[in-house]
Formats: sequence, structure tokens, C-alpha cells
Amino acid sequence: MDWNCEASTTWGTSYFNKWLPVIDEEVCTGCGLCVAACSPNCLDVVNGIAMLTCAQTCGSEEHCIGECPEDAIHMQWIPMKGDTNVGQWRIVVQGLDA
Ligand code: SF4
Ligand code: SF4
Repeated sequence: MDWNCEASTTWGTSYFNKWLPVIDEEVCTGCGLCVAACSPNCLDVVNGIAMLTCAQTCGSEEHCIGECPEDAIHMQWIPMKGDTNVGQWRIVVQGLDA
């Protein structure tokens, strides 16, 4: 996954699993409360559904989850590459967490 965004500055060359919010499209109402709660501006409402538009700068601290009245956001380890100084990452080697 190579989600891009204007704030991206440093891109890694390897894929790692990053702890990221995933929005349930069937549950999200597009209210925008999670967008307002995200200080790094990683989220946006696109076509009435919240979307993680800038995974690169997501700090993985889950502030968006606490604001969602629909319980539509859950965190998952998602493979992507980027600046590993931002947010929570982990390396998976041969199916084992390192
Ligand atoms: S975890 Fe934090 S930085 Fe990432 S989308 Fe949610 S509020 Fe924004
Ligand atoms: S707070 Fe929840 S329901 Fe509202 S836009 Fe975000 S994910 Fe959707």
C-alpha cells in the first residue's frame, strides 16, 4: 500500500506493517468527527465516507476512534512503506513478528 499525501517527505524502500485505522464503509455516516480529531490531517471525508488519505503521517495513537459515534473505525496492521519514524510499525519475517 502506497497511500500518498502532500505531507509525505521520506519514503522507505521496504514494506512494513503499520498500525492504522480502517473505516467500515457500511457503518460510517460521513459525519466528519474523526477528521476533526486528527491533528496530522490524515483523514478526509470522500464521497460521504471517511478515508485515511495520508497514512504516511498517521501517528497510530487512535484519537479518531474515540470520536466515532458509530464505532466504524478499527485499527489493523496494514502493509505499507513510508517514514518509520511516524506511528507504530512492526516487521513481519516469514510470518513471525520480529
Ligand atoms: S490514529 Fe491518529 S493520526 Fe492516525 S488517523 Fe487516527 S487520529 Fe489521525
Ligand atoms: S467519526 Fe465515524 S461515522 Fe463519522 S466520518 Fe468518521 S468514521 Fe465515519
